[in-house]
Amino acid sequence: MHTVERVPGEELAPGTVTAERREPGPDAPLIGVLALQGDVLEHLRMLAEAGARAVPVKRAAELAGLDGLVIPGGESTTIGRLADLYGLLDPIRARIGDGLPVFGTCAGAILLASSALSADGTPSAQPLLGVMDTVVRRNAFGRQVDSAELDVGVEGLEGGPVRVAFIRAPWIESAGPGVEVLATVATPAGDKIVVARQGRLLASAFHPELTGDARLHRLFVDLARRSRQDREPN
Ligand code: GLN
Repeated sequence: MHTVERVPGEELAPGTVTAERREPGPDAPLIGVLALQGDVLEHLRMLAEAGARAVPVKRAAELAGLDGLVIPGGESTTIGRLADLYGLLDPIRARIGDGLPVFGTCAGAILLASSALSADGTPSAQPLLGVMDTVVRRNAFGRQVDSAELDVGVEGLEGGPVRVAFIRAPWIESAGPGVEVLATVATPAGDKIVVARQGRLLASAFHPELTGDARLHRLFVDLARRSRQDREPN
C-alpha cells in the first residue's frame, strides 16, 4: 500500500516532505536516528522510504528496542559533546557491543572512529564512540572540493554508482584489518576511503540522505533486519 505521510518530527520543517513512501510492513526494522544535531529529518525520510520504521532518538532509554541506529552528518564536535552531556556515549557503546547495527554518515563516521585528525593531520581531541578500527581526517577534501555532489561506486551496491553529497567531508585515513573498504574516491593525495564496514558498523564520509537515492539506506535497513532475525530466530 502506498501512502503520503509525514515522518516523526516533520512538523519542525513544514512543507518539506511530499515523497510517496511504502507503509512499513510488520517485519519492518525499527531504526533510530540520533537527533542531537545534523541531518535528522532527511535520514528519517530515507529510512522510511527504505522500508524501516524510523524514529528520532535523543535519550538513552530510546535506544532500547532499536534494530539499528543512524548517526547523521553535522558537526562531529557538537554531536559528540551533546552525546557526552546527555549520557549517551556509554549506552550507545553498550548497544554496539551487543551487536546493534550503526550507520555513521559524515560526522557520524567520525564519531564511530577510533581516532580523529584535523585537516592538517594533527590529532583532534573530541568525544568519539571509538568503536570502529578507523582513523578519520576531518574536512580532508580541503577548500576546492569543500562541498560537491559525486557519483561513488560502492562495493556490493547494485544499480551502479550512487550520487551523494560531500559537505566538508572527512575521509578515512586508515583502517584496521577487520574493516572492509567498500568505496574509495580519487584525490590529489591518492585514493581515499569513503565507505567502510566493520561487521554491523557502516561508515560513509559523505551524506547519502540528501540526493534522493535510498539504496545505501536500504542496504543498512537490510543489515538491521538480518541482525534482528539472527537475534530472534523463528
Ligand atoms: N566537517 C564536519 C566535522 O568534522 C563533518 C561534516 C558533515 O558531517 N557534513 O564534524
